[in-house]
Amino acid sequence: MSEHDIRQIVIVGGGTAGWMAAAAFASLLEKGRPEIILVESDEIGTVGVGEATIPPLIAYNNMLGIAEDEFLAATQGTFKLGIEFVDWGAPGERYFHPFGPHGQDFRGVHFHQLYLREAGRRALPDIAEWSMSAAAAARGRFARPAPDARLPLSQLAYAFHFDAGLYARFLRAHAERNGVRRVEGKIVDVAQDGDSGHVAAAILADGRRIEGDLFIDCSGFRGLLIEDRLGAGYEDWSRWLPCDRAVAVPSRHAGPPDPFTRSTARPAGWQWRIPLQHRMGNGLVYASAHLDRAEAEALLLANLEAEPLAEPRHLGFTAGRRRLAWSANVVSLGLSSGFVEPLESTSIHLVQSGIVKLLALFPDRRFDPVERDEYNRQMKDVFEDVRDFVILHYKANRREDSEFWRYCREMEVPDSLAAKLDLWRAKGRLFREGRELFGTASWVAVLLGQGIVPAEQEPAVNALDPAMIAEALDKMRLSYARMAEEMPTHAAFVARACPAR
Ligand SMILES: Cc1cc2nc3c(=O)[nH]c(=O)nc-3n(C[C@H](O)[C@H](O)[C@H](O)COP(=O)(O)OP(=O)(O)OC[C@H]3O[C@@H](n4cnc5c(N)ncnc54)[C@H](O)[C@@H]3O)c2cc1C
Repeated sequence: MSEHDIRQIVIVGGGTAGWMAAAAFASLLEKGRPEIILVESDEIGTVGVGEATIPPLIAYNNMLGIAEDEFLAATQGTFKLGIEFVDWGAPGERYFHPFGPHGQDFRGVHFHQLYLREAGRRALPDIAEWSMSAAAAARGRFARPAPDARLPLSQLAYAFHFDAGLYARFLRAHAERNGVRRVEGKIVDVAQDGDSGHVAAAILADGRRIEGDLFIDCSGFRGLLIEDRLGAGYEDWSRWLPCDRAVAVPSRHAGPPDPFTRSTARPAGWQWRIPLQHRMGNGLVYASAHLDRAEAEALLLANLEAEPLAEPRHLGFTAGRRRLAWSANVVSLGLSSGFVEPLESTSIHLVQSGIVKLLALFPDRRFDPVERDEYNRQMKDVFEDVRDFVILHYKANRREDSEFWRYCREMEVPDSLAAKLDLWRAKGRLFREGRELFGTASWVAVLLGQGIVPAEQEPAVNALDPAMIAEALDKMRLSYARMAEEMPTHAAFVARACPAR
């Protein structure tokens, strides 16, 4: 150990972010050093939502040696093949944003170009029929992807739904097994070093002092260290993402759990439906400028498929990001680092992304600003990518039923998104910039799903034989459908592979 090495990491907060960080650091940093302490307050509790994820979580599990079936059994988990969007483009419409690609590219031409070309010649079904994940989801089926790249099943991609409380408990057990020390107590003060401005200790209500070299702020929206103490600043995105409240309630199942999340647009926001093994997670995300708390609760309860299992919980938030995710010796993760609303289930991924970047840029006690600045730059990029993709869903609407949707359609969007939309509208071009989280298939699904069709296709597609395109499309579609028919139902797969313990 060098004299400059971090000796103690203090994680403030034991929600999903805190325990994800604790489990990762305990598994991936040199055993026994640095010491990892997590402080959480039972009195304050956690946000208790956050139950849908995206495929990169598989990499987090693999990194930590978490066995997937064991994790799903412990968290009442199910599989997620994508998101079904209902009434988003306009009332009565629906589309599927699948994980994994649409079809296969040909001679460097993206599949969606082939699809659009052919759609100009004859009526085609939704592009989702060329997605392995969507084909399985439409039939309520699931199987893990095949390793053989020649099979359509190799294109299936998936993520998970799970119970947020059970997930934190599962990660806590993993972290404690690997030496993380948990301290229960409410932090009432923070001691700072007079010279460096670094946080020196968290002071608990009973007077205990938890000292550390590196502090990870996972204290939730408030940002106990990063904002309250260090004033890192918050970039407010609510002019583009006007939803600022949510009300959540679990309900009984009305049938077997679907292998996908459903998001249904409502007059001042949208409603989520997340199927777990033992219950359905439901919530309404809405703009308080257009709907009050009582109306929101009534709307949510009126749209449940089965009996609620608890009292509705209300939450408030401001979409945006912490200007400096890392300031002095404090790195914020989770809600303390920012929040893009849950439409594309990205928050847990942003925690994971922060953990991976921090491990790659792990500091020593000299806290070289180069590492911090690079981390902040990378986190800004990933947050902005997610922001643009989520804004697209609001911007690309043709709903006429409320002021809220008219505002979203007419609002100015960030330049980065405006440029992307211009390129798409002209010839259907999409480029995945360096670190973007959502790839071509995701953008295509939402753009076409919400009715933004390019005026023309890129010239390369015109060089291909139209009869060949038509035949290839028909064959591909049939192969996805056949494969999906052969899979077990999602319920049967879960019952066999990972039934809740
Ligand atoms: C409506 C809604 C829906 C969401 N849906 C999704 C989703 O589908 N998918 C997804 O990926 N994400 C979702 N998220 C985000 C997800 O819930 C969070 O990213 C995730 O739970 C991480 O939260 P957290 O750990 O940062 O904060 P929290 O859960 O709020 O945890 C904060 C922790 O800090 C502790 N703490 C705070 N103050 C003190 C103090 N003074 N002393 C000691 N301890 C303290 C608390 O006790 C708690 O342990 C959603 C969020 C919202 C609001």
